[in-house]
Amino acid sequence: MELSPPSDVDGAPSPFRSGFVALIGRPNVGKSTLLNQLVGEKVAITSPVAQTTRNRLRAILTTPQAQLVLLDTPGIHKPHHLLGQRLVQSARGAIGEVDVVLLLVDGSQPAGRGDAFIVELLSQSRTPVHLALNKADQVAPDQQDDLLASYQALLAPALTWPLHRCSALTGAGCPDLVEALAADLPPGPHLYPADAVSDQPEQLLLGELIREQVLHHTREEVPHSVAVRVERIVEDGPRTAVLATVVVERSSQKGILIGKGGQMLRTIGQGARLQMQKVFDGPVYLELFVKVVPNWRSHPGRLAELGYRGD
Ligand code: GDP
Ligand code: MG
Repeated sequence: MELSPPSDVDGAPSPFRSGFVALIGRPNVGKSTLLNQLVGEKVAITSPVAQTTRNRLRAILTTPQAQLVLLDTPGIHKPHHLLGQRLVQSARGAIGEVDVVLLLVDGSQPAGRGDAFIVELLSQSRTPVHLALNKADQVAPDQQDDLLASYQALLAPALTWPLHRCSALTGAGCPDLVEALAADLPPGPHLYPADAVSDQPEQLLLGELIREQVLHHTREEVPHSVAVRVERIVEDGPRTAVLATVVVERSSQKGILIGKGGQMLRTIGQGARLQMQKVFDGPVYLELFVKVVPNWRSHPGRLAELGYRGD
């Protein structure tokens, strides 16, 4: 694998490079975790529950040599209802629009049929692809070769995508990965200010921080039925007040979210508030409402209202 930065034949320093990198992979392989690791800040929410990521998010990583605009995409999987279909469309759409694709897989497991499906999908596009075997921290040294071989077999014989090993959790292998991706970007200027980490509107990030707490504290049917709408963000001296509505599909889910004597909603609000205080670097007052919108996931109009578009 060639990891040294490119330089001109006469040895002149290589030009600054910039462009878009799509993170593609099955749910739960660690795409959002990697994004946060690479930009060194929490820009995407993560959880052990599949399908955590719903919105396409741009995270920005600037090094002395390059600026990478990373697109976190929802995991590719078999769509079950309208929301699922939109998530897959969104991931597919990203492939054609970027300079490089980073296909992330769970490298602690041998390659499977789901991986073959994505490899097939990506091999149809002309965009260069890098394959990264994530979760390297969970691989014993004597398993490494077998696991690597299973992914090499997946690409053989036609595809010559560079293979990388990394851990989004510990950061191991990440600097080499960034260098290799940057080398595949075209020469170009900064696309965002050098200190930017995300282009996501504050409102969306705050909504995602609330949804993350819901994912952590509830189970089964609740997590997938939840959407969050941040209604207002008010600067009030050093304090920021945030008003948000948590939307669920059924009144039984509303009951679970509020909990006995409002205990669950307080726990969710407290967790989200602590995260928000890091974002604002100051005290936050958070008020949460819970609202039932029957079948919001299956109605195009309601999906759009909540910010989920199929683009
Ligand atoms: P996504 O669905 O691909 O965005 O996956 P997430 O980033 O939400 O991660 C799914 C789960 O895998 C979370 O519980 C993460 O903590 C975990 N995870 C992600 N990357 C790593 C890694 O490198 N090592 C280990 N051990 N766990 C990881
Ligand atoms: Mg994700």
